[in-house]
Amino acid sequence: MKGYVFHGPGQAAWEDVPDPGVQEPTDAVVRVDTVTICGTDLHILKGDVPEVRPGTILGHEAVGEVVEVGADVRTVRPGDRVLVSCITSCGRCRFCREAMYGQCRGGGGWILGHLVDGTQAEYVRVPFADLSVHPLPASVTNEDAVLLADIFPTAYEVGVLNGRVRPGDTVAVVGAGPVGLAAIATARLFAPERVIAVDVAPARLEAARKLGAEVVADARETPEQLVADLTGGLGADVVVEAVGVPETFELCTRMVRPGGHVANVGVHGRPATLHLEDLWIKNVTITTGLVDTHSTPTLLRMAAAGRLPASQLVTHTFPLERMEEAYDVFAHAAETGALKVVLGGPQREVVPVTSA
Ligand SMILES: [Zn+2]
Ligand SMILES: [Zn+2]
Repeated sequence: MKGYVFHGPGQAAWEDVPDPGVQEPTDAVVRVDTVTICGTDLHILKGDVPEVRPGTILGHEAVGEVVEVGADVRTVRPGDRVLVSCITSCGRCRFCREAMYGQCRGGGGWILGHLVDGTQAEYVRVPFADLSVHPLPASVTNEDAVLLADIFPTAYEVGVLNGRVRPGDTVAVVGAGPVGLAAIATARLFAPERVIAVDVAPARLEAARKLGAEVVADARETPEQLVADLTGGLGADVVVEAVGVPETFELCTRMVRPGGHVANVGVHGRPATLHLEDLWIKNVTITTGLVDTHSTPTLLRMAAAGRLPASQLVTHTFPLERMEEAYDVFAHAAETGALKVVLGGPQREVVPVTSA
């Protein structure tokens, strides 16, 4: 089969690799029908994630059909259409028992396209299949579903739920890339008073408006003042950091109201300053996290009901074999306007949702 293989920083190729097979009785092999590229994959290519060994197939998000299962797999069978989650779960360790699958110590966690071969290939072996793939309702398209492998649960769990968004809140989302946009879309589920999107790219701010941000602000034009003006000088109830650089994290801590929450989602590669000289008196809660994907079944039900605008983030589609071109488009988002690029064969026919 073909797969997108990492060969060290700056080097990767769509090339021939051996077909995967069942290695453990808890494995499933999935034929990849639809797959996407994550910002994390670009970090790997830059050499920011040194534990990824050369020779590893990248990718941790996919939709496909189960073609083979090990003897101990109970919840899926060959022929089932499934979502392959970015997080694998052993189901037995302390963290899995607390639904903190992202921290799994039993061989799961974020392993696909990281510690084992991933989903950017024609087939993928998924360990611990019972807890790591989700059978898909027929009414959810591949394009919607593939965004529920990582982007949507990450934004919802690490941004919106950790940030404790409540009805009537002012929510500021700093960074309107795919995760920030998904945070805007899922924050709206809680009927906030307003959502404010902060970014530097006009195209991304426009996308933020489409996904439900009432106010958009250029990050270079003191957005903290705008937030203060809109909230009677208090600041936002919840601020979601979806960039991952020191400047935006520190901006978030200036935009939050006393007693509010800063939910960090961004992947940081450099130290940021925690301004305790300002924050010590403000009762502010700051959360961090890796997605656990405990919300994936909920998000899938919402997508099936037509209540999640997941595929609105898809700006480009390619056939699987044009992986290298898709990477190029995704890596140059400023010029190409790419949000999410999706690869795969013909999408499944959409079964209309009948409202109850
Ligand atoms: Zn990802
Ligand atoms: Zn575990």
